[in-house]
Amino acid sequence: MAFGFAQAFRTFGRLALVGAIGAGLAAGDVGAEQKTPSPGSAKALFAGVSLPTQGAAQPIGFYAKGCMTGAVALPTDGPTWQAMRLSRNRRWGNPAMIALLERFSQDAVKYAGWPGILVGDIAQPRGGPMLNGHSSHQIGLDADIWFTPMPARHMTAQEREDLPFTSMLQKDKFLTVNPKVWTESRARLLMLAASYPEVERIFVNPAIKKKMCDTWTGDRTNLGKLRPIYGHDSHFHIRIKCPPGAAGCTPQAPVGSGDGCDKSLAYWFTPAPWAPPKPPKPGAKPPKPPREMMVSDLPKACAAVLDAASVASVQAATYGGTSAATAFTAAPAAAPAADDDEALPDVGPVPNDKPTIQ
Ligand SMILES: [Zn+2]
Repeated sequence: MAFGFAQAFRTFGRLALVGAIGAGLAAGDVGAEQKTPSPGSAKALFAGVSLPTQGAAQPIGFYAKGCMTGAVALPTDGPTWQAMRLSRNRRWGNPAMIALLERFSQDAVKYAGWPGILVGDIAQPRGGPMLNGHSSHQIGLDADIWFTPMPARHMTAQEREDLPFTSMLQKDKFLTVNPKVWTESRARLLMLAASYPEVERIFVNPAIKKKMCDTWTGDRTNLGKLRPIYGHDSHFHIRIKCPPGAAGCTPQAPVGSGDGCDKSLAYWFTPAPWAPPKPPKPGAKPPKPPREMMVSDLPKACAAVLDAASVASVQAATYGGTSAATAFTAAPAAAPAADDDEALPDVGPVPNDKPTIQ
């Protein structure tokens, strides 16, 4: 630990109230403040499409502003995974992402002592912004994995809707991993995910990143891929690089070479990320509410992606072929319950994974 956590923690005596806010945001549902997108918005249009386009798989644009063609679905079940919240219809991705998830799930059993993975949201059939829960996951190269192990039995579709998220954090403490819930196998799972060359970033709650910094005694080469961010305390988020030859995919700057256990992490343990927005000065114009994202705000090709012909069925576009598709078919996305821990907080600045002090 090169940089002043001790100092950061001393400050906390004075931050009890902020602490309470921080823990609440980090642990829970903050989606309630999200407005329903209007019918012509990019969110509504992309959420309204139930099947991917035909043709080659292409990510178009950036993780948080784009769409995709030629997506494939992760089969709802495999020997080492089960897909969750099937009604959301968000188990679509670039084939490189889906292949990685299947491989990761097998390696998790083999090398991490993990019984199999529960896969949360990947992307919508044509990517694009979602009605709720995420700002990224738009080009098929992001996927959420639960910190809850896969049960030994096959869950029904209803059970996959209802299984509650389990936070890894202690509810009554500021950004602290709950020692009763956290296990070494979860640490191994994260480092296994980070070990793949195509994985560029893994988003976790700052408390989890700190836990890893403090306790991981193995090879720390890939620890820097673990990036602290709001939420992400009941799941972690795997982001892969633009696949080779994906000309329309906008890459993100690679992470630095260090382990990230430095001031970029200490930042999260200060009041700054949790502070409510400053009230406007008396007499100042109230700030304009942010404009809804329209299809015209996305890369040009995304309008055509919305209009393109669909594949024949979910089964036809399920990774591994029709034999991999099970009896669960995806219903068109109803407005899913906002029970994500990835929704953004309604207070404070919302940095991407790179706070300005980094
Ligand atoms: Zn995610």
